[in-house]
Amino acid sequence: MNYKPVVGLEVHVELATESKMFCSCSAKYFGKKPNTYTCPVCLGLPGALPVPNQRAIDWCIKIALALNCKIQEFSKFDRKNYFYPDLAKGYQISQYDKPFGLNGSIEVTSSNGQKRVIRIRRVHMEEDTGKLTHATVSGKRVSLIDFNRSGVPLVEIVTEPDFQNATEVKNYLESLQQVVRYLGVSNADMEKGEMRLEPNISLQEVNISELPKYKVEVKNINSFRFVEKAINFEVERQKEILDAGKTPTQETRGWDELSNTTISQREKEDAHDYRYFPEPDIPPIVTDISKIEELKNDLPEMPKKKMKRFTNDYLLSNYDTEILIRERSLAEFFEKTVADGKEFNLTPKQIANFIINRKIDIDKNLPGEIVKRIIASNQKVTIDEDKLKKVAKSVLSNNSKAVEDYKKGKTQVLGFLIGQVKRELGNVETESIKNVLVELMDKDVE
Ligand code: ZN
Ligand code: MN
Repeated sequence: MNYKPVVGLEVHVELATESKMFCSCSAKYFGKKPNTYTCPVCLGLPGALPVPNQRAIDWCIKIALALNCKIQEFSKFDRKNYFYPDLAKGYQISQYDKPFGLNGSIEVTSSNGQKRVIRIRRVHMEEDTGKLTHATVSGKRVSLIDFNRSGVPLVEIVTEPDFQNATEVKNYLESLQQVVRYLGVSNADMEKGEMRLEPNISLQEVNISELPKYKVEVKNINSFRFVEKAINFEVERQKEILDAGKTPTQETRGWDELSNTTISQREKEDAHDYRYFPEPDIPPIVTDISKIEELKNDLPEMPKKKMKRFTNDYLLSNYDTEILIRERSLAEFFEKTVADGKEFNLTPKQIANFIINRKIDIDKNLPGEIVKRIIASNQKVTIDEDKLKKVAKSVLSNNSKAVEDYKKGKTQVLGFLIGQVKRELGNVETESIKNVLVELMDKDVE
């Protein structure tokens, strides 16, 4: 039987706000002493009331706008009920039927290099949970809970099952990470758990339009490389089950990076298992059109648009542009250098080459300095062969020790000798000095 993968993605992104989602505790909990960033609200103590963080809501809407979503003027929070020790209240404040953003899209590059559009189903706001650690204390297996993360603003971005291979998923995740970084709303650092991924994977028979009746969700994936591996593993695993005439179980599986396989964790719950209902402690959120416009106008130029402008206006290759716009700060540094280099007739291409080839650290250089360095490196003195030979000869006779060393095989003295010639002649091309020196010394040997 012939199958094609049907893959959807849920991504959670932690926002980099100062304070948590529903209380004034600091949200900068990473690496801090456990349970020091807490209060009655984020510990879920009875009677404590949540107050929504407006900045987090604005940032969530910005993400939704950047992903071409329709922003909902009327939105609300809901309780998602489930029991787990890291969830102090016994429910998570999330959004159910009125999320901030609906029906967006993003373009990805597929494995054959073609562009495809992935539909974004929804972008909603919720709170993070505490963190469980399993350890052995005094010879006993225990579970420890740290509530510092409890209540940190979390944005969930859910796609339709539109991905057809792992390459598209990886490309989507890279774009999404770039988008939230451009917006300045999250670092989306996977290693710190600021971006967490859950693909759901099933297989569909190629000639049947009906979607599969099951899906398998994979959790615990903490790198883009592992998401590719997990998807490819699931495709093979499910193919075998289907070929045997069975249907894979609808379940949640975990990625195990030691064995490079997925392992069954639990059967997947449906939405009705969570008993969603409107959060009674928070009034609905109304975002009027003028506010939405204001947030839209506040968006920076996004990567896809920048890509187009750089290749058109600066006549750069896609390859160069991709490197330059990977981070917004580098793109801005490049453009400042182009502006500074204009009066010296430096082309954007020269500047791009210099920044990329020399891996310029933009925190340690100023655009004006880069312009000076490019001009200096362009001013190669052209010199006639005879003069070069004459100077090389005199340098060799004045440095007989270095010449001896060279003859003993210490070729590293060449650098010193080249430097001596340059002192006389200026910035002559290194390669031709080297050739002349080597030629003279080798002749000497014979
Ligand atoms: Zn708190
Ligand atoms: Mn969620």
